[in-house]
Amino acid sequence: MKLRTNFVAATMLAGAVSAFSFLSAGAAQAQGALVVYCGVQEEWCRGMVNAFERETGIKVSMTRKSAGEVYAQVKAEAANPRADIWWGGTGDPHMQAAEEGLTVEYKSPKMGELQDWAVRQWEQSKGKTVGIYSGALGFGYNTELVKSKGIPEPKCWADLLTTKLKDEVQVADPNSSGTAYTLLATIIQLMGEEKGFDYLKAVHKNINQYTKSGAAPAKAMALGETTVGIAFMHDIVTMVVDKAPIKVVAPCEGTGYEIGSMSLIKGAKNLDNAKKFYDWALTPAAQKIGAETKSYQVPSNKATPVPPEAPKLADIKLINFDFAKYGSSDERKRLLSKWDNEVKNLP
Ligand code: PLP
Repeated sequence: MKLRTNFVAATMLAGAVSAFSFLSAGAAQAQGALVVYCGVQEEWCRGMVNAFERETGIKVSMTRKSAGEVYAQVKAEAANPRADIWWGGTGDPHMQAAEEGLTVEYKSPKMGELQDWAVRQWEQSKGKTVGIYSGALGFGYNTELVKSKGIPEPKCWADLLTTKLKDEVQVADPNSSGTAYTLLATIIQLMGEEKGFDYLKAVHKNINQYTKSGAAPAKAMALGETTVGIAFMHDIVTMVVDKAPIKVVAPCEGTGYEIGSMSLIKGAKNLDNAKKFYDWALTPAAQKIGAETKSYQVPSNKATPVPPEAPKLADIKLINFDFAKYGSSDERKRLLSKWDNEVKNLP
């Protein structure tokens, strides 16, 4: 009997709670709500959301995922979109989503304040995605592990092939991670497709794990779980700032880079609020939150201070990255499936 009473009370309480959530969801809707899919590090995502909520009173619901995962979710939800805006993460899945009609064109009044590379991203996607930051790909190594294991300090992509690095290299899976897709596209542009895949197969012998998120290998290096981590240089700098014994390397052969991007979702239920976020995210005040949360990319608004910790793009041998080609739907699908078939499942 007691049990039953408790059950009834619990059911009534649950009903009251859900009625309350319904009411508060309604209230949030009235003052304005926004659903953001965020593609950078959790700390930066939260910093952006908190600042935007403070400034506008708009309630934000945020989900953090890697670039390829956000793309897959936006595609799966296309008939009934949950998100209003996709902020951050490498540009390639934003470009693919633009081509597939999952996102919509928008010209922010802030466009005139942006770096050329950010505007080019917008032009190439026919106004459907815009550059919000940029950063170069590279790798890092744990200086203590390199010394204790007697491994020569790697300086070039070619140095990652030494048998001394067997099971000592970590990188993400390009299906989920924009970082790892940037590696795939970079190696092909540097070496050509055939030699590039030969390189990825050879480096596979040294890979201890393909992680889901692109920044995970930088953390693993800091914890001493892997000697070498391939990641965006700025994500490795974050670990160095936290005093990890890590050296950041701009590979000697040259390297690729990303244009972190932002897109409005087609069918967004809170499109006006999404546009408010979009315009705000292009201001120096919003872009400064990156460095404040230890993300050291180069921001896209010319007036946003470049954090002194950010790797200097002018000092890095950057390839002439073909964002249109490697962000195109067919090419991205083809390369990911080739990588799955020819690299991932090798012993
Ligand atoms: N974290 C930061 C700070 C980034 O700039 C990026 C890329 O834009 C990522 C993470 C990449 O995330 P992922 O490789 O997991 O898609």
